[in-house]
Amino acid sequence: MSDTVTRTQVAIVGGGPAGLMLSHLLHVAGIESVVVDNRTVEQIETTHRAGILERDSVRLLVDTGVSDRVLRDGHEHEGIALRFDGVSHRIDFQKLVGASCWLYPQTEVFIDLHRARTRDGGDLRYGITDTEVTGVLDAPVVEYTAADGTRNQITADLVVGADGSRSICRPLVANARQYFREYPFAWFGVMVQAPPSAPELIYNRSPQGFALISQRTDTVQRMYFQCDPTEDPAEWSDDRIWEQLHARLAGHDGFRLIDGSVLERTVLPFRSFVQAPMRHGRLLLAGDAGHTVPPTGAKGLNLALADVRVLAEEIERAVGKGDDDALDTYTERALSRVWKAQHFSYWMTTMLHNASDVSEFDDQRQLGELNSLVSSEAGSTYLAEGYTGWPHH
Ligand SMILES: Cc1cc2nc3c(=O)[nH]c(=O)nc-3n(C[C@H](O)[C@H](O)[C@H](O)COP(=O)(O)OP(=O)(O)OC[C@H]3O[C@@H](n4cnc5c(N)ncnc54)[C@H](O)[C@@H]3O)c2cc1C
Repeated sequence: MSDTVTRTQVAIVGGGPAGLMLSHLLHVAGIESVVVDNRTVEQIETTHRAGILERDSVRLLVDTGVSDRVLRDGHEHEGIALRFDGVSHRIDFQKLVGASCWLYPQTEVFIDLHRARTRDGGDLRYGITDTEVTGVLDAPVVEYTAADGTRNQITADLVVGADGSRSICRPLVANARQYFREYPFAWFGVMVQAPPSAPELIYNRSPQGFALISQRTDTVQRMYFQCDPTEDPAEWSDDRIWEQLHARLAGHDGFRLIDGSVLERTVLPFRSFVQAPMRHGRLLLAGDAGHTVPPTGAKGLNLALADVRVLAEEIERAVGKGDDDALDTYTERALSRVWKAQHFSYWMTTMLHNASDVSEFDDQRQLGELNSLVSSEAGSTYLAEGYTGWPHH
């Protein structure tokens, strides 16, 4: 028995970027939704994840009225550096494709989306537990336990699983196909107290493995280096972390890595995963619930936003026609972008990381690939186009 029953048009499980952006776009289209999430707002606001927004992700936030704070507080990046053999090579996005990406942390994207939904009177229920989803074929019901211990029910015309990579909605898609690829390495991520070492991101390949130098603010930076997936962050002192980063970034072009105290350390295992279809009856999947990518190439958050842009359009069309079958085109539209991003992330990952069993041939071939990329306008343009993001359709 439920203590309360709420009726809505779309129940959204997961109030991360995919769930909140979908709720916002539906609101703009005059469609009601309720969002439930088993973390608290404070937990989500303080969990560091992605940091790079594609051009059309920025436009989506600004043009749909979420917020234009990204344009004021974010940092426009007109390129990245690919660094190998101790030398950095700039890929100039503006020159190659006339586009930029934006350094704007996922925590800020969440804050903007949460404020926009609160401003617009959205029904958001954070900090809940024991979510259950039933009736996905004809009459979806989402049940959960609220912080006060009451059991609550939401009945809806549609339910969207935007509940991340450990989705409880994903297994409810019957007869789905799952595609995945594991990688024999992970990222050791650190947040450090230091001024920026460079104005733009540096993707660094070295014989010791990959490293990424990224930025956050004038005094806090984000850096990663390739590690074994079984690595325990607690066993890494600040000195040991800096030793790794300095060894990987060493070179002869004058670049200097500025170190400082390590504020936070995590190991981030990654894999490529896609589930198809992303619809079953009245259930739809969006964002990490439907697919995950390795973080190289910064596609995860951007794909989540691109998914729900398409999904909101399809839901609007289906509601207008009174016909849920109009939603069938969602999987095809979303996955055409997802597979491009899967390839891009896989390509960036394999081009810049080295597996433990790498042969001398593979090693030299990888350098050949990087050299041909940075010396070819066509090669660099492909990277610039994928990194700044293919236009939303
Ligand atoms: C540590 C880390 C670092 C990352 N770094 C990068 C990066 O550098 N670049 C990049 O592009 N991507 C990165 N990603 C990936 C990126 O953060 C995700 O692709 C993005 O968050 C996807 O958004 P989403 O809304 O689909 O899922 P999420 O952000 O995971 O949101 C899902 C929400 O669903 C909620 N939820 C889960 N289960 C339930 C349930 N049973 N009931 C109710 N709610 C539930 C969760 O609490 C969560 O708030 C990183 C991910 C992690 C974990």
